[in-house]
Amino acid sequence: MTNTETIMDDDQVLVLDGVAKQYGGLPALSPTSLTVQRGEFLTLLGPSGSGKSTLLKLIAGFESPSSGAILLRSRDISGLSPAQRQLGMVFQSYSLFPHLTVAKNIEYGLKRRKWSLPRRRARVAEILAIVKLEHRAEALPAELSGGQQQRVAVARALAYDPDVLLMDEPLGALDRTLRLEMESEIKRIHGELGTTFIYVTHDQQEAMHLSTRIAIMNNSRVVALGTPDDLFRNPPNAFTAEFFSDATTVPAEIDSEKRFRWENGTGYWEAPAGMSPGRYTLGIRPRAARWGIVEGAPALRGKVRSSMLFGDEVRVLIDSDTVTGLRVIVPARATGFSPGEHVDVSIPWEDAILLPRET
Ligand code: ADP
Repeated sequence: MTNTETIMDDDQVLVLDGVAKQYGGLPALSPTSLTVQRGEFLTLLGPSGSGKSTLLKLIAGFESPSSGAILLRSRDISGLSPAQRQLGMVFQSYSLFPHLTVAKNIEYGLKRRKWSLPRRRARVAEILAIVKLEHRAEALPAELSGGQQQRVAVARALAYDPDVLLMDEPLGALDRTLRLEMESEIKRIHGELGTTFIYVTHDQQEAMHLSTRIAIMNNSRVVALGTPDDLFRNPPNAFTAEFFSDATTVPAEIDSEKRFRWENGTGYWEAPAGMSPGRYTLGIRPRAARWGIVEGAPALRGKVRSSMLFGDEVRVLIDSDTVTGLRVIVPARATGFSPGEHVDVSIPWEDAILLPRET
């Protein structure tokens, strides 16, 4: 995308065209272009300080871009206030009006938009049913659990049927059990309504469960964009392999005779077909590693540093001469793993991540 005159097709709800933000000359968001399709659940995922909230705030209108344009249904909204943008917003702090009942909290935005009383009533009832809070319509926020308050916040943001719902770490304040429950609820609500969701989190699992697509952010840029499954299996760069696929990355190379070697390698292996000579990064996902020697697969000999049993799986940390802290998850075995035990680990090519080394 090169300019804001680009014609959007009907399925493109939101287009970011070279949107960037600096604070005092430092980039909080490097120029970013991104198209969001109608009905998507797009998650911005990245470590703290990677620019997720900045990008969300620019879309919401709480910040204005230093350059670039934001188009909502083909209209440039870059200069509009948050209220003029007609987007729904849910924050980690629920930001409910404490003195208003659940129903009145939800109705508030509809009143401001001058909906008639019968229409408001009908919509509040409808949206309360969607978030399964019909029985709490007359309660005050303080009388609700954290999860219920978050549902009210979602209901309020969705009540007037916005083009896009923006959510900034909405589950951050909930405990683990409630988080998982709310995750399923948010997924269900998205499925039932078909509204476009843009969601910010630093939690890889949450992003994986919820999203139709994930934009992975690092150092104020989107460094990968794709479906959860594709990003997990085929991360396009070492950062994504480590941060999203939970891979340990190791320098490797393929020489002019198509032989593969990695730094701690005890030998050479035939490189996978079609790979050119050069410097590579080998990414090893915890479940990609196999115990023992597998014919034709790169292998390493190391020592068990520690192991932890998780039901029928064991998470083992392995150190070798050059690789420290290789994370491996294997089926539990009767004898367990002792610290200091020598082990051979292989990474079959079909499960390995092989990326050209970034300079
Ligand atoms: P994330 O949401 O991924 O944690 P942010 O978007 O909040 O990251 O921040 C991205 C970068 O921009 C960080 O380096 C942060 O310190 C900087 N930043 C964010 N907001 C401001 C601000 N209002 N003033 C100055 N720097 C900011």
